[in-house]
Amino acid sequence: MCVTCGCSDPKLNHDGEPHTRARPTRALKRSITRGARSTLQIERSLLDKNQRLAEQNRAWLAARSSVAFNLMGSPGAGKTALLEAVVRFASDLSIVVVEGDQATERDAERIRQAGCRAIQINTGTGCHLDAHAVLHGLEALAPEPGSRVILENVGNLVCPALFDLGETARIVVLSVAEGDDKPLKYPHMFRACDALVLNKIDLLPYLPFDMAAALGHARALNPKLVTFELSAMRGDGLASFCNWLRSFTASSAPLVASPSPEAPNGATP
Ligand code: MG
Repeated sequence: MCVTCGCSDPKLNHDGEPHTRARPTRALKRSITRGARSTLQIERSLLDKNQRLAEQNRAWLAARSSVAFNLMGSPGAGKTALLEAVVRFASDLSIVVVEGDQATERDAERIRQAGCRAIQINTGTGCHLDAHAVLHGLEALAPEPGSRVILENVGNLVCPALFDLGETARIVVLSVAEGDDKPLKYPHMFRACDALVLNKIDLLPYLPFDMAAALGHARALNPKLVTFELSAMRGDGLASFCNWLRSFTASSAPLVASPSPEAPNGATP
């Protein structure tokens, strides 16, 4: 369960309020306030511990002349399809993959079939990868020196943006089938990332997706965002994306400061 979004407490909804239509008593309100304060303390402690482990992961990777990328996006955005295409297109990138899903080994098997090593982490009810799980994944995977390690996060546009995994850069994949307003609805994800891949552009003739609007919303949130219009299935835009991955070396400094839930208005700290 994830304390970040509050889904760990079955007595409270995602606003920290009880699942009841009855008017809350003063005692209940005090209890809720104490509960919210306690949740914030647990959240801060959880994120601090995660941050320490993320720094360990970054140092572990640097000692092996390797860099990691945190790949995020909704279920079905095409994250795994993008990785399959990248692995097949650019074997010189020495990619290895840590796959995160709640269940099954399916995506790791797809990546292996595409031609590179992959390890699967199942998070059970968890909605994101964390640095501790990734640490074990990295140790099991033992990337060769000079590797680019892709951490494909659990599919959602919320919690994964809060957890540093030890990556050097963060990528969000948004498929054109999801709608051009996603940056407006999930702003923290687009603020926290370094690159935006707009995937499935081969479907544009059949969808009411406004590319200019999507890019405008995303760039208004994060002017430094590097963007790629891409079709993982057809190969459009793949070379540019691979060149961007290629531009990172073991000495590359992390592009984005660690995200914090306390940043004012969700702004990137
Ligand atoms: Mg996947």
